[in-house]
Amino acid sequence: MGLNDLSIEKLRDLLKKKEISVMDIVRDIEAGIAQDDKHELPLNAYINFDINRIKKEAGDLIGNSGKIENTLLKGVPIAIKDLINVIHTPTTCGSNILKNYVSPYDATAITLLKKNGGVPSGKLNMDEFAMGSSNENSYFGAVRNPHDRSKIPGGSSGGPASAVAGNLAVAALGTDTGGSIRQPASMCGVFGIKPTYGRVSRYGLVAYASSFDQIGPITKTVMDGALLLEAVSGYDPKDSTSANVETPVFSDYVGKSIGDLTIGIPDEYFGEGLDDEVRTIVEQGISTLKEAGTGVKRIKLSYTKYAIATYYIIATAEASSNLARFDGIRYGTRYVKTEDLETLYKENRSIGFGDEVKRRILLGTFTLSSGYYDAYYLKAQKARTLIREDFTQAFDEVDIIVTPVSPIPAWDLGQMVDDPLQMYLSDIYTVPVNLAGLPAASVNCGKTSGGLPVGLQLIANHFNESDIFRTASVVEGKVG
Ligand code: GLN
Repeated sequence: MGLNDLSIEKLRDLLKKKEISVMDIVRDIEAGIAQDDKHELPLNAYINFDINRIKKEAGDLIGNSGKIENTLLKGVPIAIKDLINVIHTPTTCGSNILKNYVSPYDATAITLLKKNGGVPSGKLNMDEFAMGSSNENSYFGAVRNPHDRSKIPGGSSGGPASAVAGNLAVAALGTDTGGSIRQPASMCGVFGIKPTYGRVSRYGLVAYASSFDQIGPITKTVMDGALLLEAVSGYDPKDSTSANVETPVFSDYVGKSIGDLTIGIPDEYFGEGLDDEVRTIVEQGISTLKEAGTGVKRIKLSYTKYAIATYYIIATAEASSNLARFDGIRYGTRYVKTEDLETLYKENRSIGFGDEVKRRILLGTFTLSSGYYDAYYLKAQKARTLIREDFTQAFDEVDIIVTPVSPIPAWDLGQMVDDPLQMYLSDIYTVPVNLAGLPAASVNCGKTSGGLPVGLQLIANHFNESDIFRTASVVEGKVG
């Protein structure tokens, strides 16, 4: 057992008492990764783990603050999904086109992380440009699920979830555009929270779909999620969609009573396509909350059936525009030498992007083109408003909406790679939350007979993450 097995909460304590040093933890993580690499089926959770760079970060932090023991995270190493910029470190986004890119600056979330005593420690594998639900779309190879290495870890933050669940990281920062924190957290049996849109700055996060993207924690415990979210939240003038709201002390809410809360159960999330075992486990989670004293109401989220189509139209439209900058001139590796500009764009992008990214750029460009704009993009924006209003009405009656995260547990590697539509449909319970900009978490709720974890999704009203932490800690207390 190494220090890599422990939570932020435990390590903070040991660091404070000076029983261990930051580098003791980093060395244990390094040893854990080296050992896993020797496994017949390695998790492949990291794209980059540069011990010298991490040492330098740790040294700077200790040297600069002088009072690291007074910070929130006290020097605990935090691994970072490889689309968040960390200075002097590669940011590949899991893509061939950015494999040589080294960031000249820190994202605001990283600046805040360091200010609060977190040491960025390694860059984690992911679906290319965060497009995917299985982490099989990475240029750096697929990631495996530590609970069963023949299964996917979920995506697109498969690296973060697999590393945290497999004890190759203490905790991680991921991103969630349509479920990429919650779904892999659910499949790997760890905690993950997507904050309210605007809670965490997107400055320095490589954009996939800007009106959805949010950075958030993936952690071993609910308390760790609260500590890490607190560390990276806050208003940032460099992100025009950043919200100027106060950051609550989230950790104060972990373990607090939930007797005053009413939970809402939407019929639409328990219909056809929901796996029987997942249903049973989620229903047990709901019973746990009832026993803890919550009121329960059935609610309607009638526009849920349009969520997948709406999300995949708007997200791909935004992606087609955001990814235009990767052309081998402004950003990205230049693979060809030619005088002809069009050939240069075409060749660089054809070589640099993988199939799924190309599919989405084509789809997004199509829905934005003049003949189809009204029929697809504009209509999707209207549907987005209706989906948002569904939630607004529901939150007039209830405090937390409780649903499954994924209709099925982790599936076999390779099972859905040839069926992108099937893969998109598996996002049914997570994308509505992003369409509405709401905060939502996945907390582990139990395991299937095959030993695969199943998460419970807790959705709250805008900027009400505190109630999510209260509720999640009750479920965690029961399941362990
Ligand atoms: N699976 C969704 C997609 O591929 C969500 C991805 C994400 O949240 N980054 O778009």
